[in-house]
Amino acid sequence: MHDPNCIFCKIIAGQIPSRKVYEDEEVFAFHDIHPWAPVHFLMVPKLHIPSMAQVHTGHEALLGRMMALAPRLALEQGCRPYPDGGFRIVANTGAEGGQEVHHLHIHVMGGPRPWLKG
Ligand code: AMP
Ligand code: ZN
Repeated sequence: MHDPNCIFCKIIAGQIPSRKVYEDEEVFAFHDIHPWAPVHFLMVPKLHIPSMAQVHTGHEALLGRMMALAPRLALEQGCRPYPDGGFRIVANTGAEGGQEVHHLHIHVMGGPRPWLKG
């Protein structure tokens, strides 16, 4: 399921260029174009889910895989190990949650501080 007007669906399809971090059958990850932190990438399901607000029990395995993958990708992208390093995971949801792109995505941010935001 893809939304032809969705920028992240276009990135997943390779119709808009991105700096890819990871890809498998269900998940795509790429660097954020406006990073807030030295490491800042986005993890998205290939399935077009607009936000966390539309998540249901049928998505449990997919989201579980994404969360389990995040620590590995964070280390691969240069986040230092826990507990001195670490990373932040954010999923902005809806207008009041600060969501701008309506394809579910998890921000993974890390690296030495200070950061531009947060
Ligand atoms: P959010 O506010 O949580 O919806 O975050 C959307 C994020 O997508 C922002 O941090 C943007 O910088 C990022 N973004 C938007 N367009 C692109 C793009 N073409 N490539 C990479 N990141 C993007
Ligand atoms: Zn989409």
